[in-house]
Amino acid sequence: MSYPVTLIPGDGTGPEITDAVVTALEATGVKFDWKIENAGTDVYEEQGTPLPEAVIESIRDTKVGIKGPITTPVGTGFRSVNVALRKELDLFACVRPCKSYKGVRSRYESIDLIVVRENHEDLYAGIEFERNSEDGRELRAWMADHKHKIRDDAGISIKPISVYGTQRIVQFAFDYARKLGRKKVTSVHKANIMKYTDGLWLEVSREVAAKNTDIEFEDRIVDNMCMQLVQKPDLYDVIVLPNLYGDIISDLCAGLVGGLGVAPGANIGSDIGLFEATHGSAPKYKGMNKVNPMAMMLSGVMMLHHLGESGAARRLEHAIAAVILEGKHVTYDMKARRDDPTAVGTSQVGEAVAERLRRG
Ligand code: NAD
Repeated sequence: MSYPVTLIPGDGTGPEITDAVVTALEATGVKFDWKIENAGTDVYEEQGTPLPEAVIESIRDTKVGIKGPITTPVGTGFRSVNVALRKELDLFACVRPCKSYKGVRSRYESIDLIVVRENHEDLYAGIEFERNSEDGRELRAWMADHKHKIRDDAGISIKPISVYGTQRIVQFAFDYARKLGRKKVTSVHKANIMKYTDGLWLEVSREVAAKNTDIEFEDRIVDNMCMQLVQKPDLYDVIVLPNLYGDIISDLCAGLVGGLGVAPGANIGSDIGLFEATHGSAPKYKGMNKVNPMAMMLSGVMMLHHLGESGAARRLEHAIAAVILEGKHVTYDMKARRDDPTAVGTSQVGEAVAERLRRG
């Protein structure tokens, strides 16, 4: 059987990375029926939109997609394609595994964490009022009537956290933990200060945990969590967080295991999975066959698990780990010195991983 999968090469270094990832994925022996859809800056120039409806339709149809990074230009009208995809397809959960691989330079050796971030709510909901603006003034006047004095020169962001949004992300974290045989879910918040938002998050987390007693549950205040992750990362397993803390802590965790080159990710909805690396389009390296495709390849490992191809997923992950450990066919970012002349290019990494898979 062949799996229909929407393939979005992206822009900047995205297409080069995507080619290497397709080489590696196809070497697993799993058959894919790629539906190639373009999005990003080049498409914007041709079609006036960076995200044609056909891209969204294709993902709705195939239910599974893998995507190269896409640039969000500063100062033009077009919104982030990444954010738009998450909203349009209701991809409410951002999943970022952070795992140590031998051979990746890092301060830690045996980290194996999964960060689950809520994607739609919180201070990232985009409800903002500019300083001195008319609507901001109305809001300030209403606040003043309710005993909250806010200065005219203050910008305001609203932080919605709902019962519905919290229930589904925390339940998702438990389901994901169960599927992967994980033992513990840690819910992160600042409920001691923000009682009606983070307090609600904590209350709902506890309610959901009470229905999932086969998996251990605990909660942590976000500032304490940052310190704990740096000092004792091995205490944690699956971590579930509201949008803003999730954004920050997933980068912290990527840093714990060696950075962007090995940080995969997925955005998941109730019946759709879209897999992509954590890093961006690194446009300054576009067309140079230079950047590391392993983060997107590891997102491919997640996609194989999602498709139920766990054997192929494990084989691909082992092949990537072996190439990293051997250290011969890795890109500049995995070398001790960034100008190491033995670093190889993006496509050579794809070939090396494919070769490992073929050797078995
Ligand atoms: P970036 O991740 O693209 O690059 C930052 C730096 O990290 C690069 O200059 C490079 O030195 C290094 N780097 C990144 N990926 C690498 C890789 N695979 N291999 C080796 N080195 C790598 O971050 P940025 O420069 O802040 O963002 C560039 C563009 O990408 C922006 O427009 C941003 O909005 C967008 N972006 C897209 C996504 C996405 O599509 N999911 C995610 C993050 C950023």
